[in-house]
Amino acid sequence: MLWSCLLHCVCQCVQVNIAQQLADKIQKSKVAGRRPVVVFDLDATLFENAPRTWKILWEYASTRGERSLLDKLSVVVPVNWPYALSDVLGFLEHPHLMTEELLAFWKERFFKSEYQLFDVAMPGALELATYCYQEGCFIVYLTGRDVPGMLQGCVDSLVQTGFPLGGVRTQTLLKTTFEMPDELFKQEAIEAINELGQVVLSIDNEPANCNLFQNAWPSAVIAHIESHCAPNPPPLVDGILCIEGLGVFSELTE
Ligand SMILES: [Mg+2]
Repeated sequence: MLWSCLLHCVCQCVQVNIAQQLADKIQKSKVAGRRPVVVFDLDATLFENAPRTWKILWEYASTRGERSLLDKLSVVVPVNWPYALSDVLGFLEHPHLMTEELLAFWKERFFKSEYQLFDVAMPGALELATYCYQEGCFIVYLTGRDVPGMLQGCVDSLVQTGFPLGGVRTQTLLKTTFEMPDELFKQEAIEAINELGQVVLSIDNEPANCNLFQNAWPSAVIAHIESHCAPNPPPLVDGILCIEGLGVFSELTE
């Protein structure tokens, strides 16, 4: 199953030029008098959030006197870390530190505004969003972060990094509560986004979300970015393009 999925994805990527597809779809949308819309997920799509976890682990190790973990953190680069905290600790060669207490420590911080400021843009993310905005697209940042705990930091992070925000063609959509299931939220968001114009591109790291978007916007470019994703992802439905990173759009932005 895994190999057939991988082969399928590779074939799709080889057969199409995703950057050219995007440029064509934007142009066609405008010629047809529509407003092109692009939909970006944030975590593990536009933003690398491993530095957020790095900062939290650094605080934990500092306050608990975990010298060995501090030494490890001081030499490791926080890029493309695994999805689960237990796997991150395994990657850092400190799996024995994975406890309920550490998980609670991490959760208290990871889903809070101020820690989002440690995120960094994925390579090519800023360039892609800027290109789309300058081409007249409406930019939607669609994220499973929640309004009560994360809106302020989410906005600050986007502004600090230089993403188009606050103008006439941008919108930031977050869950209204922490507990709201991601997929339910994104289903509701689809209906709101359809009011904005014609979706020409959507990128997300979660296969479940990509499938939702492929069904909602079959004429758009739907891309699955292979950063990391939640455990037990569903197979991608036909038509979704797999990309290793946002560098595949570089011919549009150089
Ligand atoms: Mg994500």
